[in-house]
Amino acid sequence: MKNAAKVRSELVEIQGGKCCYCRQPFTETGRKVATLEHKTPKMHRGSNKRSNLAAACLGCNQRRGHQMNVAKQRKLASAAD
Ligand SMILES: [Zn+2]
Repeated sequence: MKNAAKVRSELVEIQGGKCCYCRQPFTETGRKVATLEHKTPKMHRGSNKRSNLAAACLGCNQRRGHQMNVAKQRKLASAAD
């Protein structure tokens, strides 16, 4: 397994320097910094294989994580009904 930073930089290059979700160009710092995204999260048995990885900006990565938490909370809430 290559180290994550190398994989991320390769994915950034493959994606033309743009986020896989919002298609905005990555920047060195701030909300558009490149992060390594697991398309299927590790908690859902997502793998570390290249096919499950993409480069996403920090903003999208955090937003996606938040949405998944909301979905989980809704599921828990509906299960309690
Ligand atoms: Zn993005």
